[in-house]
Amino acid sequence: MKIKENIAEVKRRIFLTCTKINCDPRTITLVAVSKGRSIDEIKQAIEAGITHLGENRVQEAVIKYAALRNTEYGIRINWHMVGHLQTNKVKDAVKIFDLIHSIDSLPLAKEVDKQANKLNKIQDVLIEIKTSPEISKFGFNPEQIIEVIKEISGFKNINIKGLMTIAPRVDDPEQARPYFRRLRGLLEEINTKGITQQAMRILSMGMTEDFEVALEEGANMLRLGRAIFEGQK
Ligand SMILES: *Cc1c(COP(=O)(O)O)cnc(C)c1O
Repeated sequence: MKIKENIAEVKRRIFLTCTKINCDPRTITLVAVSKGRSIDEIKQAIEAGITHLGENRVQEAVIKYAALRNTEYGIRINWHMVGHLQTNKVKDAVKIFDLIHSIDSLPLAKEVDKQANKLNKIQDVLIEIKTSPEISKFGFNPEQIIEVIKEISGFKNINIKGLMTIAPRVDDPEQARPYFRRLRGLLEEINTKGITQQAMRILSMGMTEDFEVALEEGANMLRLGRAIFEGQK
């Protein structure tokens, strides 16, 4: 029952960090990033209380979704798309994902809007921001973000819930702090300017190596893969 122990340990660390910075652990959504993991591993995670699964490839997610959906495991699950989404995969993606974290271009947003419209669905999304130019290939530049959010807010079948970023891999998690801070600053700026109809609430940032620093900088949605399925170093 390694996965169960890993999840308990992650929750303990979230609790400790929240105690330190005075946040309510119940407001933190833990997304178990299950890419590359087997159905059996995913079931173990669900048995240990996981209700949010993150995937980065649509085809893989569709298979897992089909395997779990009509079982006792599938009912409670919220599906998150955390990886780069290709336009030709959007049709399948909007069928299964509750939240798409990776809106990284206007053509992609348009396609999501179009396919969601066909399904009569309002698709919840996050806008991905390239907080570090060197590292991540995908995401909007922070300088573009106000214009981009204005435009996407006009799409009828998309609901922008917040922002997402992938921090560069660094030796010391402290080095990721400026990127997280940047994302939080952008969210606050957008909310202050009242660009979206409703204030954006979700800050999806923090992975296995750096989630405590992300929490300290205001993350409320953590995407953890290895910490859950492999355990800490
Ligand atoms: C794989 C992945 C994660 C999880 O990474 P870990 O370092 O294993 O926690 C989080 N977000 C995205 C976008 C990923 O692709």
